[in-house]
Amino acid sequence: MPADPIPGLHHVTAIASDPQVNLDFYTQVLGLRLVKRTVNFDDPGTYHFYFGDDLGTPGTLLTFFPWPRVGRGTPGAGEVTQVAFRIPLDSLTYWEQRLARKGIPFSRKPRRFSEEVLSFSDPAGMQVELTTHAGVSTGHPPRFSDVPSGDAIRGLAGVTMLQLDATETSGILSVMGFQQIAAEGQRLRFASPADPAALGNHIDILVDPQATFGRSGAGSVHHIAFRAASDAAQLEWRSQITHRLAATEVLDRAYFHSIYFREPGGVLFELATDNPGFAVDEPVETLGERLCLPPWLEARREGLQQRLPGITLHKGGAEASQAVDPHAGGELYRAGAALDQALGAVILLHGRGGPARDILTLSRALAPAGVPLAFLAPQAAGLAWYPNSFLAERELNQPYLDSALARVQSTVNMALEAGIPLERIVLAGFSQGACLACEFIASQPARYAGLIAWTGGLIGPPGSKLTQEGDLNGTPALFATSDPDQWVPWSRVQESARIFTAMGAQVNLRSFPGKPHSVSGEEIELARQLIERAFAGVPARS
Ligand code: ZN
Repeated sequence: MPADPIPGLHHVTAIASDPQVNLDFYTQVLGLRLVKRTVNFDDPGTYHFYFGDDLGTPGTLLTFFPWPRVGRGTPGAGEVTQVAFRIPLDSLTYWEQRLARKGIPFSRKPRRFSEEVLSFSDPAGMQVELTTHAGVSTGHPPRFSDVPSGDAIRGLAGVTMLQLDATETSGILSVMGFQQIAAEGQRLRFASPADPAALGNHIDILVDPQATFGRSGAGSVHHIAFRAASDAAQLEWRSQITHRLAATEVLDRAYFHSIYFREPGGVLFELATDNPGFAVDEPVETLGERLCLPPWLEARREGLQQRLPGITLHKGGAEASQAVDPHAGGELYRAGAALDQALGAVILLHGRGGPARDILTLSRALAPAGVPLAFLAPQAAGLAWYPNSFLAERELNQPYLDSALARVQSTVNMALEAGIPLERIVLAGFSQGACLACEFIASQPARYAGLIAWTGGLIGPPGSKLTQEGDLNGTPALFATSDPDQWVPWSRVQESARIFTAMGAQVNLRSFPGKPHSVSGEEIELARQLIERAFAGVPARS
C-alpha cells in the first residue's frame, strides 16, 4: 500500500438547480464561504460553486453544478444519499434554533454511532446532515459568516452511500486503505485509520437489498472525491486501484489534480490532490468574489459571462449591514400601454430566481381586451427579494426586505406620478413576489385595483403578529396556491386571507392540490377575471 494514506474526503460534488438559491442557502443559512466561483470545466456554460471553510481546506468542501432547468433527482441505490457536516457537540442547540429561525424544516434523527444528527433538505432536495463531534478543532471559520466561529461547521463529517449489497464497495474501500470501524443496523461505517479525526473520514454504506435505483437530477450527489496528499501519492494510489477498476488519467482541475473511477456499487469516486488549492488564482481575502476561469477557458471569458446567470454573493456578518438598499436602481421591464396612456397599472413581482422578464410574459394573458394597462416588472438584485424564507425572522431578511418594499413603492410611485391612482393599480406576484405584494398592501392599506398572490402570504415567522391596521375598502384579493407547497404553507396563506378579509378586502382563496410550485393556467385565468372586473366600467382617460 502507498506510504501516504488517503485520509478522508477532499470534496463532495452535487447537482443544484437555481444558482442564486444554492449560493444563498450555503452561505446565508449554513454559513459556509464561497471559496471559488468558476465553471464546470466539462460544460463551461454552467457554474461550478465551491463552498468550504475560510481557506477552502480539503475535507471542508461541498461543490455544486447549478443547472437551472434540471428536474429533481430521485435518491436510490448506487448513490450518495446523505452528506454530513461536522459541528461541535455543544453547538446542536444553536443549529436547531438557527434552522428554525431561517424557516428550514429539519428533524433530529436517532443517535448514530453516538452522534446527534440534524437532518434537512437543501433547496434542490439534497439530504444534508449536521452531526455532532466532541473535541473538534477550531479550524478556519468562514470570515463573512454570521455563525459564531465556535458554532461554525468545521467541514465534512462524511457521506452515506445506499447500496443493495456492501461487499463490492467495501472491497474497493479497503483497496483505498479504509477499514470498517463500526456497524449499526444496516449501516456500516468505514474510516481511514491514518487520522481518525480527519474531516470527511466517515464513509457509511447503508445496505438495503430492496432499494430501487435512483435517478440523477437536482439534489443528487454527482461524485465524491477523496484526498491524495501529493501528485506522487495519487499516481501510487492510481496503480493500486487500477488492479481492480478502470480509472481516468490525471486531469488538471486547476485547484487540484484528479483521477476518476466508478466503484462497483455505482458511485463515482475521484481522488484529488490537496495542492495547488484555491488561492492559486485569487487572494484568500477575496475568494469567490469574481468568476475564475482556468487558463484554457480565459479566452472565452466574455461569452461565458454573458451566458451564465447573474448572481449576487451576499456576505453575512459585519459586511451585510453595509448593503443598505440592494434593490434600489435595479432593472425595470415594461409591457402593454405606456403609463401616461394606460387606464391602470399592473405591477408584476417575480419569485426567487426570477427573472422579471419571465413574469412579464403573463401580461398578454392578463390584459382584458380593449383595456389599456401598463405592466411594470421590477427585478430584484441577484433575482431574490430577500435571502431567507418568508417564515424567517424579519431581521434575518434585512436590509433586503425593506429595500424590496421600497422598490415596490418606487414602482407604485411611477404609476401615481403618471396620473394612475391607487384604486387602478394591481399588485401581482408569485412566491417571494406574492409575499412582497401582500406585505406591501397590508402595510400601506388603501383601496387598490387588486392583489394577486400566486402562492404567497404575509411575511413573518410562525406565531408572530402578522395583523396590520387599516382599511382595504373592498380591494379584490386573489390568494391562489399549491397545496402542499414546498415553500409556502397552506396555513400561512389561509391566515393571510383571513387578515385581508378582516381589513376589508374581497378575498378569493383557492388551493390546488398537487400543483407544482409555479403559476398554472387556471390561476392566470382567475387573475385575468379579477383584473377584468376591476377595470369594467372604468371610463377611458380623457
Ligand atoms: Zn470533484
